[in-house]
Amino acid sequence: MTTGPEAICSRAYIEAGSSDFAFDGVAFYRRDLLPGYCAVFRESRQQLSYCLYIIPGGPCKVGDLRRMHETVLREDPFVSRAVGAGATVGAMKGAPLRLGGMAGTYDDHLLLLGDAAGQIDPLTGEGIQYAMDAAEIAADVLTKALADGDLGAARLRRYHDRWFRAFGTDFAWSARIAALCGRYPGLLDAGARALREGGAPLLAKWAEVMTGAKPKAHFLKPDLVVPMLRSALRHAFAGRAEPDYAAIQRWPA
Ligand SMILES: Cc1cc2nc3c(=O)[nH]c(=O)nc-3n(C[C@H](O)[C@H](O)[C@H](O)COP(=O)(O)OP(=O)(O)OC[C@H]3O[C@@H](n4cnc5c(N)ncnc54)[C@H](O)[C@@H]3O)c2cc1C
Repeated sequence: MTTGPEAICSRAYIEAGSSDFAFDGVAFYRRDLLPGYCAVFRESRQQLSYCLYIIPGGPCKVGDLRRMHETVLREDPFVSRAVGAGATVGAMKGAPLRLGGMAGTYDDHLLLLGDAAGQIDPLTGEGIQYAMDAAEIAADVLTKALADGDLGAARLRRYHDRWFRAFGTDFAWSARIAALCGRYPGLLDAGARALREGGAPLLAKWAEVMTGAKPKAHFLKPDLVVPMLRSALRHAFAGRAEPDYAAIQRWPA
């Protein structure tokens, strides 16, 4: 591999009890960060984490991580309100993300999995589900290869072919969706409105696709695409409203 990872993610912990953030998790899509985003998640013992993902396709580059992490946390009207002025925020740490899966993840006596194989979703920058799926496939291929005493590249290629069939093609979909969101941010608005209107049942289906538990092609299934299209059409001619910054404190009421 001769190229560096194309994306990066930051993380800072927010001390338990120092923020009145009222939710389990919120993702924030800023126009200047698209197709990247930032998010606040509730962790164990009421600690929060604030993460910012820089994903290729927009104006932000990997080197902008620290500046964007700090600026968004302090100045974004939604994020700063969600976290609260009194929050005790820890130091930023960051790690690079190689997206979309590598072309060769096997060789003689070698398998690459997870981040080492670039098995990270180009839409979300997330890779835990894919790393676990790849581990299951690798364990199965290795068990049989060891039983046959053959750890040659030709045999281990079965691992590569299997993970690629299982979720590699999904990465291509994700890259296309990320590019679309970067180009047409209104799609995200339509999605967010549809989720708000559809409530928890629709959010659960959307989350399964976003986290890799279900393929991205499921976005095109009627139970997801119809509410989104309906919302997009309903609001297409509604005109542009002023941002409602206080909404972050009362959603989903
Ligand atoms: C800030 C941030 C937030 C993220 N949030 C999410 C998220 O919310 N959801 C999601 O799905 N994905 C998320 N990801 C991506 C996710 O963390 C990775 O895709 C996933 O952890 C990959 O698993 P892995 O086993 O390949 O690598 P890792 O989880 O990185 O595991 C590799 C392990 O190897 C160890 N190691 C390294 N070198 C050596 C060595 N020489 N000897 C022994 N051990 C070694 C490391 O210490 C580490 O424990 C995030 C990534 C970052 C950077």
